[in-house]
Amino acid sequence: MKLDRESLISWLEERNPERIEHLYAEAYRTKVSAVGDKVYLRGLVEISNICRKNCLYCGIRRDNSATVRYEISSDDVLRSADFAYHAGYASMVIQGGERTDRKFIDKITGLLKEIKRRWPLGITLSLGEQPIEVYREWFEAGAHRYLLRIESSTEELYRKIHPEDDVHSYETRVQALKDLRAAGYQVGTGVMIGLPFQTAAHLADDLLFFKAMDIDMCGMGPYLEHSETPLYVWRHLIPDQRERLEMSVRMVALLRLLMPDINIAATTAMQAIDPYGRERAILAGANVLMPNLTLSEVREEYQIYQNKPGIGEDAAISSSKTEQRLSEMKIPIGWGQWGDSKHYSKR
Ligand code: SAM
Ligand code: SF4
Repeated sequence: MKLDRESLISWLEERNPERIEHLYAEAYRTKVSAVGDKVYLRGLVEISNICRKNCLYCGIRRDNSATVRYEISSDDVLRSADFAYHAGYASMVIQGGERTDRKFIDKITGLLKEIKRRWPLGITLSLGEQPIEVYREWFEAGAHRYLLRIESSTEELYRKIHPEDDVHSYETRVQALKDLRAAGYQVGTGVMIGLPFQTAAHLADDLLFFKAMDIDMCGMGPYLEHSETPLYVWRHLIPDQRERLEMSVRMVALLRLLMPDINIAATTAMQAIDPYGRERAILAGANVLMPNLTLSEVREEYQIYQNKPGIGEDAAISSSKTEQRLSEMKIPIGWGQWGDSKHYSKR
């Protein structure tokens, strides 16, 4: 299948249901032959919603005073790690707002060492931009995958969805991906889909950016508006939710064809639009899913977008619902396996 820029744009604009089904089936076959048919689970802990940044789309941005700030104690993170391990997940993700204070950095380092001492879990971090020394410190302490979305690979669009200052620089974001590679991580990035001002050409360029950066993992999902954020004023410019989900599944399928052996996540934002949104992405090429293990008491405060699924649920409920949906769709789970990026191991 031709996958140059023009072909990617026309696949993103395709409206013929039969051709789209054919694309998804082809992406699924490519996944099975390159990385197998299993989906790998990573238990997600949203460790803190304290953030030094002010991204114009995000509900936990620094200036949203309606958000009550929290930080989960190390003991509670260890309890979640124990849950993940005993649930057979083999991996966990620690995600949170961007913090560069030494106290927080030390807390993560200590947690990584303790988790690795107690359980053979694979650990992914998603804690924003950090100096390369911090990436190295965390890698040495036991993390081996890092997710940092570029959000949009088109600098002009990136600037429209972030404040114009040094803390939100496109150049720094790209450099961070290079630093993560140099520090030894399996590097994951991704974009939001259905942003105001975003076109099919921007999305095609995002796919080509992933390829050019030779990434190991990707997490993409629909942009979902939040009324307490500056980007909300442009909500009349975005496609409806169904279209945003459809475009997200299309992006997953095209990326699978472009980069057959990377790990691609089916994301929570897809589930926010359709309870089976993540499963649809899996059938179009995704192979990683991150059930939320965050304590129910604080979930409401990690609303990067509104109507996030699973608010009020605890880890046991979110996990069993996820497992039930996967089994209904006859999607096999890679129990007890890290499911690392094959692309990374081949490099
Ligand atoms: N602070 C870290 C960072 O930004 O890389 C990690 C946590 S941040 C909440 C994780 C991701 O949430 C971001 O990369 C962004 O793509 C996504 N996100 C934030 N606001 C969103 C929104 N309104 N709709 C969809 N995704 C959103
Ligand atoms: Fe902070 Fe990440 Fe939200 Fe930006 S997207 S405001 S860095 S949590």
